[in-house]
Amino acid sequence: MECQITQYTVGYQRKTSVHYTDKLDLYHRGMIRCALCSRVYTPYMKKGIQYFNSRCPDDCTNPKRNFNINFIENKIGDILSNLYFTDKELVEIDARTTTDIAIFEEKRTVNLEVNEGQKKKIREKLKFLHTNKLDLLIAGTYSAESYLEEENRLHGELTGLQGEEQTSDQAMHEVIKDIIKLSELLKDSAAYWSFANSHEKEQIMRVIFSELSLSENTLQFKVKKGFVSFQTRLLVEGDSTGSRTPIPALRRPCPNH
Ligand SMILES: [Zn+2]
Repeated sequence: MECQITQYTVGYQRKTSVHYTDKLDLYHRGMIRCALCSRVYTPYMKKGIQYFNSRCPDDCTNPKRNFNINFIENKIGDILSNLYFTDKELVEIDARTTTDIAIFEEKRTVNLEVNEGQKKKIREKLKFLHTNKLDLLIAGTYSAESYLEEENRLHGELTGLQGEEQTSDQAMHEVIKDIIKLSELLKDSAAYWSFANSHEKEQIMRVIFSELSLSENTLQFKVKKGFVSFQTRLLVEGDSTGSRTPIPALRRPCPNH
């Protein structure tokens, strides 16, 4: 683990503070906020147990200023065990993710084509500069200096465009990874939750939830894009009037049994 040690001297007293750059040793950092004032709950360790402490201002009326990691993970487990999807909804989720990938791919192809056109123009300009260097200098179109500047500028533009393509490749990869994760999670999340360690729980939370906020003992949540159309229904979960089919895998106590 890397750590930076900052030393500073106050009067005659020397203090040393240690900032760990690897923050993975504390879980769910920055993920849970006070539902009333939106300040984040900060994780800290005490006697080997992770707790969260609120940074609420004095006038915030949320009485929940402190809780341990089990408290919040149990709350999230409750939410996950209530994630019911009808067969129709499962088909919709599937269609939605397929559409997301298709739209993303289409945009990316268009961008790449535009990029390709721009790169071609730049290469032609460079070729023109190189082929006619002597004539351009004699005619005074460029000085030796401005010729070099123009050449560098064009090379810079070319590198920039190539960088954009790489970023787009990575974004594509991320989108697909998230979607695959999402559909895998939908199958097993609730069953998996109780067996997962806090690191794995954090990964599940980051994929499913865009926001988690706590007021007293009530955990509110917002879900990420793939779940958005189901959010309204998920929030009224507990109202058991609808006929809902649980995902069979979610009801399995353990995937191996
Ligand atoms: Zn607050």
